[in-house]
Amino acid sequence: MSAPSPIPPAGRRTGRVKWFSEAKGSGYLVDNDGTDHFFRVADVRGYELPRRGMTVEFQPSSNARGPTASHVVLLSPAPASPAPEDGRVECHHCKSRVVPRLVVYRGVAQRSLCTRCGQELADYTPGYALGVMLSMQVLQASHAVQNAARAIRKFLTGG
Ligand SMILES: [Zn+2]
Repeated sequence: MSAPSPIPPAGRRTGRVKWFSEAKGSGYLVDNDGTDHFFRVADVRGYELPRRGMTVEFQPSSNARGPTASHVVLLSPAPASPAPEDGRVECHHCKSRVVPRLVVYRGVAQRSLCTRCGQELADYTPGYALGVMLSMQVLQASHAVQNAARAIRKFLTGG
């Protein structure tokens, strides 16, 4: 017999963090029935980043892409492990491996910071994601222009 698990409030479910990408700010929880639930860091309540193996309680839901989780509460720390899979990420500013610190505004994670140098590691705000998306489109557009220019030049020079 395993230890009795705490009974979650009505509608809520318990599970574990299956996978979490600190860079993307999203991941998957697996509930006790083995169903994967997509979640975003904005759905996590508290000041800690989810790490693989952590016990969680959450509100199950679903969207067009499948089951999702919201109001995720981290119940237990990740199992101690000497492996590099301990939630540390390499800071691209000071190059040390750190457990990021979350900046939370009104209960929603905004960004993560390096605990050593204090520089920003990831930005989870929607405006930032939009900015990244737009700059990628601009980049793709400029590539398209360059390719077209190259094709025209090639045509004119008879290449
Ligand atoms: Zn740093």
